[in-house]
Amino acid sequence: EADRLISPDKRGEDLDAALRPQTLDDFTGQAEARANLKVFIEAAKRRSEALDHVLFVGPPGLGKTTLAQIMAKELGVNFRSTSGPVIAKAGDLAALLTNLEERDVLFIDEIHRLNPAVEEILYPAMEDFQLDLIIGEGPAARSVKIDLSKFTLVAATTRLGLLTTPLRDRFGIPVRLNFYTVEELELIIRRGARLMGLGMSDDGAREIARRARGTPRIAGRLLRRVRDFAEVADATEVSRAIADEALTRLEVDHMGLDQLDRRYLNMICQHFGGGPVGIETIAAGLSEPRDAIEDIIEPYMIQQGLIQRTPRGRVMTATAWKHLGLTPPKDADL
Ligand code: ADP
Repeated sequence: EADRLISPDKRGEDLDAALRPQTLDDFTGQAEARANLKVFIEAAKRRSEALDHVLFVGPPGLGKTTLAQIMAKELGVNFRSTSGPVIAKAGDLAALLTNLEERDVLFIDEIHRLNPAVEEILYPAMEDFQLDLIIGEGPAARSVKIDLSKFTLVAATTRLGLLTTPLRDRFGIPVRLNFYTVEELELIIRRGARLMGLGMSDDGAREIARRARGTPRIAGRLLRRVRDFAEVADATEVSRAIADEALTRLEVDHMGLDQLDRRYLNMICQHFGGGPVGIETIAAGLSEPRDAIEDIIEPYMIQQGLIQRTPRGRVMTATAWKHLGLTPPKDADL
């Protein structure tokens, strides 16, 4: 499944950088988050202070990294970026923190995957801009305090519940990102097509937007694949038919579900009569990590009303049965 369209991996797509919006005004969608950030950024600039720490929460590919970069730009400060699993030791984080200049933005992606010893170092750094380090071992060990520049931590996570309470409480500005509407994705796709020099019909843009799973990263990937089809077909612009042909070949269905999404639904319906079924059972059945299912597959399914989370497990809705072209059993727990 490594090549899954919605996998969070960001490798090798130079175009990504070119398509990334550079300013808050350039950024489509997330109107509420954008309006709030604008105020907080402006206020911090007027006071010549570091912006309070910001936590972005939402599924992969919705623009958390992009917004963090934009914030640094709008604040006129340096942007430093890392991710939770990459920071192995307290010393690694200490090195990053001591290299920051006043008001810099430090972005930590997947902050819920920080190791607990590293997380401990982060608390006083966020709160008092101090590092508390223990040097040496045993009776000779002593603690030293190092003053840090007043920086802004911008962190991203997929689900708020994955963070420990003390960490969560240290962010002054929590920002939730939601799936994009079809109209917003259409704007993003048209802008992308324009930047790529690709002719795009209104119908074509709408078709891709409908099937992009509410996610700009997926919209970008689908757009690149559709471009390949259009070029090979010598088409001057992407028509609805070309978009549909390309997406059907990629096995992205009319709701934007891909193979893994359909495997998920098929398993619940074929082996568990539509549910309820526990997440661990689903994870074992699909041979996928539970986190990936909860972070990547389920949020969109829930938003689309295909499944529900109940105390007894996941249940497929009537909409999901219909989507699979099946009739729910009479005793289905819908
Ligand atoms: P996340 O950090 O939430 O996983 P990213 O910020 O890396 O998501 O965004 C994924 C891709 O989607 C990037 O290529 C980015 O350029 C694009 N993207 C995200 N949000 C938008 C948006 N609002 N408008 C245009 N492109 C976007």
